[in-house]
Amino acid sequence: MSGVKIPIETSARHIHVSREEFEQLFGTGAELHYVKELSQPGQYLCEERLTVRGPRGSFENMAILGPFRKETQVEVSLTDTRRLGLPGIIRQSGNIADTPGCTLIGPAGELTIPRGVIVAKRHIHMTPDEAITLRVRDNDEVFVLTKSYERALIYADVVVRVSRNFRLAMHVDTDEANAFSSDAEPYGVIVRLFDDNYNTDKWIDEVLSGIYR
Ligand SMILES: [Zn+2]
Repeated sequence: MSGVKIPIETSARHIHVSREEFEQLFGTGAELHYVKELSQPGQYLCEERLTVRGPRGSFENMAILGPFRKETQVEVSLTDTRRLGLPGIIRQSGNIADTPGCTLIGPAGELTIPRGVIVAKRHIHMTPDEAITLRVRDNDEVFVLTKSYERALIYADVVVRVSRNFRLAMHVDTDEANAFSSDAEPYGVIVRLFDDNYNTDKWIDEVLSGIYR
């Protein structure tokens, strides 16, 4: 079996909105306007932009990605959370319980959401066929060795997300993308460092006590 090149794509800070909250910010009956398609089928960049404000700072013109979602969610990097003055909570997309909120400012109003600001956990989108080829399952966590010039990294704790609607791609945020030096078309490969379910904390404890496996 040969390996598979996994394209690595950088997600810049962005917002997913619920229809109800979008209308509070852009006016009753307002709609999202399509600008361009993103790598995952059905996801698209919108014309509409928002200001996101935290206790310490804000970002203007943050991109909104369509279509509407059930709950509003703001995805930023850890560096961004410092500028906003919010704790950086790493979560899978959609899992926003007990995350910090922020203020959203649109042309027709502003709104403080009680939760929804996350640092997205790095992940790989793939189809069920690709999961079989790569011998992984939905929600597995894997190591990804990145192709780089002078600054390669092995990313741990990369979540596998499997769906028939996905297209093979690893998503990292801007901090993670800047942490390795990549060319115009960065990619990585899944590497298996252990036979069983790995655990990086256990690995560190073992190395500290002189166990190398
Ligand atoms: Zn993604």
